[in-house]
Amino acid sequence: MSGGDNLEFEIRPNPAPVADAERSALLANPGFGRIFTDHMVTIRYADGKGWYEPRVEARAPIPMDPASAVLHYAQEIFEGLKAYTLPDGGIAMFRPDANATRFAQSAQRMAMPQLPEETFLQSLREIIAIDRSWLPPGDEGSLYLRPFAYASEVFLGVRPSMEYLYLVIASPVGPYFSGGVKPVSVWVTPDFTRAAPGGTGAAKCGGNYAAGLSAQAEAIENGCDQVVYLDAVERKYIDELGGMNVFFVLDDNSLATPPLTGTILPGITRDSVIKLAERAGRKVVERPVSLDEWRTGAASGAIREAFACGTAAVITPIGSVKYAGGGFTVADGGTGEVTSELRKQLVDIQRGRAEDPFGWVH
Ligand code: PMP
Repeated sequence: MSGGDNLEFEIRPNPAPVADAERSALLANPGFGRIFTDHMVTIRYADGKGWYEPRVEARAPIPMDPASAVLHYAQEIFEGLKAYTLPDGGIAMFRPDANATRFAQSAQRMAMPQLPEETFLQSLREIIAIDRSWLPPGDEGSLYLRPFAYASEVFLGVRPSMEYLYLVIASPVGPYFSGGVKPVSVWVTPDFTRAAPGGTGAAKCGGNYAAGLSAQAEAIENGCDQVVYLDAVERKYIDELGGMNVFFVLDDNSLATPPLTGTILPGITRDSVIKLAERAGRKVVERPVSLDEWRTGAASGAIREAFACGTAAVITPIGSVKYAGGGFTVADGGTGEVTSELRKQLVDIQRGRAEDPFGWVH
């Protein structure tokens, strides 16, 4: 079965799943990333053997040798996407094929073997099938799926590992904004950059997030919700937020967003926003936008709205911006019209309440 596109998963149901009453209590207020379902997917990889032993089994700690390569050199990648209930009772995922492709691209950047995209998709279907009772009730919550892979070879040499473990875990999550969409405040970090040209900015690897924690802490210390990174070369242009891409709405109603030059994560929400906006006849320009342009544009009205986008919060307005030595609000600091409209369009497609012109809902 090595490396094949159609692996047969061995299903080993958890002999001691969480009891119905306890699960219902947990699902009443799941929060984010704190509670987990009864199962996980595991697939092993070894040089010469390819991918083997695909399993669905009880979620449990993974035994790990202290010399496992990932603990030393951080050869690890992940993805994040949601499964949710449709009005007809079916369960959907939004563009999981795009996550499969990005996972393969991240693997390539981190010198890891690529999991066949069909196997990635099948692994998601398997965990949803066995843990579907963990989907929060109502049409707001979702089951957050976290596929990831790490270097599991027991070896301290600095070279790509010859063994890997791929896993999928699932975590029920509540609505991101209980009580309506709230604009976020952002801090433009003067000290830290996220990714340099030639670096790993476009890969979804754990190391990128470890390196961002100090910058996020700095944002909180400065009274902001999220950090914004500037480009690493000129320290002038907006790259992205710690976990979201950025869009600007200009006074001619067109959109501008930083280009994918390898230093930002190619967000699936970003791509969806571009396609939806263009379909509605709006112009979208992928070009660098400087902090200066944002500041003067917010003052003159040339930049009417700004929003961040990603899987977790879909589309979030940016209300205010702070940087070393100053700050400004974007328009009135509330939620702009174009931001609201795009958000509604996207959420309605995701939730099966509107036509799905691009075939995004699986
Ligand atoms: N940028 C970063 C750094 C992220 O972690 C994420 C979340 N995956 C995004 C952007 C948005 O990507 P997506 O729309 O695929 O969730």
